[in-house]
Parts: sequence; C-alpha cells; structure tokens
Amino acid sequence: MSPIIVGAHVSSSGGIYNAIDNAKLIEAEAIQIFPSAPQMWRMTQHKPEVIEKFNKLYAASDLKEIWIHNIYLANLAADTAEHLKKSIDSVLHALNLAKQINANGVVLHTGSHKGKGFENVVDQVVSALEEILDRSSSSTILALEDMAGQGGTIGTTFEELGILLQRVNSSRLRVCLDTCHAFAAGYDIRDRKSVSSVIQQFDNTIGLENLAVIHANDSKVDLGEQKDRHENIGQGYIGTLGFEEMIHHSGFAGKAFILEVPGYPNTDTGKSNGPDQINIDELKRIRSLKK
Ligand SMILES: [Zn+2]
Ligand SMILES: [Zn+2]
Repeated sequence: MSPIIVGAHVSSSGGIYNAIDNAKLIEAEAIQIFPSAPQMWRMTQHKPEVIEKFNKLYAASDLKEIWIHNIYLANLAADTAEHLKKSIDSVLHALNLAKQINANGVVLHTGSHKGKGFENVVDQVVSALEEILDRSSSSTILALEDMAGQGGTIGTTFEELGILLQRVNSSRLRVCLDTCHAFAAGYDIRDRKSVSSVIQQFDNTIGLENLAVIHANDSKVDLGEQKDRHENIGQGYIGTLGFEEMIHHSGFAGKAFILEVPGYPNTDTGKSNGPDQINIDELKRIRSLKK
C-alpha cells in the first residue's frame, strides 16, 4: 500500500513562488495555495517571470503535488447572472494558473443554495461545471469539496457530489474530501469501524476512483454540528485515532493529505500561523505507525 503524502496549505503572498519556500520551512511534501486573495473578486495576474520562477523552484523541490484552492466568493448556485459569471471566471482563472504551474488541479467549494434546496439549483450548477470544463485545459482536475453544511452548502452529503459527478460525466471532475467538513456534516470518522463505513459510503456514492485529494483537518465542533471550524490534528472531536485509521486505510492510499489547520501559537509571538511543522510532524508520525 503506497503511503499518504503529507501536505499543507501555505501562504504565497509576495509572489506564488514563495509558497515553495514556505513548504520547505515546515517540510511539507505537497502544497495548496490560493490563486488570489480568497475573500476578494480581484484576480491576481501572475506575471510570466513569476510563473517561471515558481516552475524552476518546483522542479528543484521534492514536492509531489500542488493544488490550488479557488477563492471563497464563488458560488455556482448564485442567484444573479453577474455573480454566476464572476464565479465561473474565478474557477477558470484558477484552472488556468493550475495549468501554467503544472498543478494537479483546483479544489472548489461548489457553492450554496441558501435554503432553496439542492434539487432547485442542480441544473444551474451542472451547466456551470460543464462550461468551466469546456473552457479550460484538458489536463487539470477540478475537485469539488465536501462541505460542513453551514448555510445550505452544496456537497454536504456524498450523494450530492455523486449526482454532480454523474451528471457532468467528465473524468476531470473529481472530489476533495475534507475530514473536518465530513465529520461536521455527520460522517463519523473516529475509529476503525466508522472510518471503514464512511469510506464505503464514499465509494458507493462517489467512487473512490474519483477521490482526488484530502483536506486533513480535525474539527472544533462535534459530529453533525454543521459548522466549518478546523482544529489541529488530534486536538479536536475527530481525534488521533480517527486520523490513524484514515491514514492507514487502503481507500486513501497514496493520497495527499493537505492540512488547513490553525497551527499552534508561536512561543515568541503567541500567534499561530496556519498549518505548522507540529501538525506536519504529527501526520508523518501517524504515517510511520505500523498498522
Ligand atoms: Zn478544505
Ligand atoms: Zn473548512
């Protein structure tokens, strides 16, 4: 069974190539970055020399995978034509960057129906996804992320993601499984039996062959509370045992586990700074356990 890859979301401020150095600092084996500031519509236009520098550093690094997380404002179930167009454009921008930097693909929060119900927005979401795939390079993956369920998010159940994949029917459309979101949405992943059962449910509804990448986050909220609150590995309601079982389950073999955790407070500044080496080391420690 091939071991998992231990990765982290890292900052790319000051130029996306900085992400490679930031990964090195915490000994990450894979990274995820934002294409632009995640809370703003304004898209960063990465200059050719910036892309070139990134690609050089990437080629010289030991990094195994690169993922781009689309901005948070996008909503493929948007109410207005303007919001929908901006959303589609943001995903196209991210996919285009993915192609330029040889990233594996783009992770997307599909959006929110804001109480209207999944069935009332599914047609719009399917055609938006089709348009995005049509208008982007055929070499990049678009991975829809499962969600915690806050505010009518699409992808709160595996069934919803399964329906989207089935209807769009493209080998480029896959799924990103966020462990915190799944747990908050009601999927128990705290021990061997529950982890096996959830992975089986994933296989039945989405298909394990469609699992592109994993977001490895513990949860600050308890099972089924439907809130999106990430916690450091082993410090939340999922707990260390859950991660031991997931990391050593054959269904997740070889996958990149990308941390999006708050990190631990720095001893000097008292501030925590996102996924840190403590979390990376914890996933590596778990990976080294013989199961
Ligand atoms: Zn995530
Ligand atoms: Zn989240």
